[in-house]
Amino acid sequence: MIIIKTADEVARMRDSGRIVAEILDLLEERVVPGVTTLELDQIAERECRKRGAKPAFKGYGGFPFSICASPEDRIVHGFPNDRPLPEGEILSIDFGVVWKGFFGDSARTMAVGNISSEKHRLLKATKRSLELGIEKAWPGNRLFDISHAVQSHVEGLGFSVVKEFVGHGIGRGLHEDPQVPNFGPPGQGPLLCSGMVLAIEPMVNVGKGGVKVLDDGWTAVTLDGKPSAHFEHTVAITEDGPQILTAI
Ligand code: MG
Ligand code: MG
Repeated sequence: MIIIKTADEVARMRDSGRIVAEILDLLEERVVPGVTTLELDQIAERECRKRGAKPAFKGYGGFPFSICASPEDRIVHGFPNDRPLPEGEILSIDFGVVWKGFFGDSARTMAVGNISSEKHRLLKATKRSLELGIEKAWPGNRLFDISHAVQSHVEGLGFSVVKEFVGHGIGRGLHEDPQVPNFGPPGQGPLLCSGMVLAIEPMVNVGKGGVKVLDDGWTAVTLDGKPSAHFEHTVAITEDGPQILTAI
């Protein structure tokens, strides 16, 4: 069942989303060669508590950290560790908070120093596919209009969307209905209505796809070992159009 939020609830989610954006901004400033993802995790947790919010992922289904840190061929759900990041890698950070009972969820893939032109194109394509998906988040459209906008942009550039993981509704729960796939036929799926809040999150591979989960039970990597990127926003559907909640 898709839970419709009141305007007041959307306003509260805007506050939790702003906290997520502020902290991702701080993390992005710290992503330079030599930093470890464990350091980034500690910063995220500290900044979160400073603002009176709780990291959303820590303890969720047993996940042990505040951020998901997924470099290179890691798609999502990577564990932070003490390996210094080398120049030229890409790092996806997925981060969420719960604040006054409502969740915010957002992700970005960041460049560690200078990256190859292929990785640069991957990040640009993934970010743009999220923007194009968000542009479809209007009342009266169908859910897969979002999915199709993401997929057609990504595939038009020769990359592939990850099909094993999807976006989701979000509110008092981190993962609510509906699932928001990054692929699908336009004009189909549930009717979008004002008051729905969706976490739209394209995950995009340079290669052709296929996912395996590492022995830690969480970290999802590409089968072919090629890089993967991930951008996500929590978005409210309103009569005035899509409102990105996880922005400053
Ligand atoms: Mg997320
Ligand atoms: Mg999410």
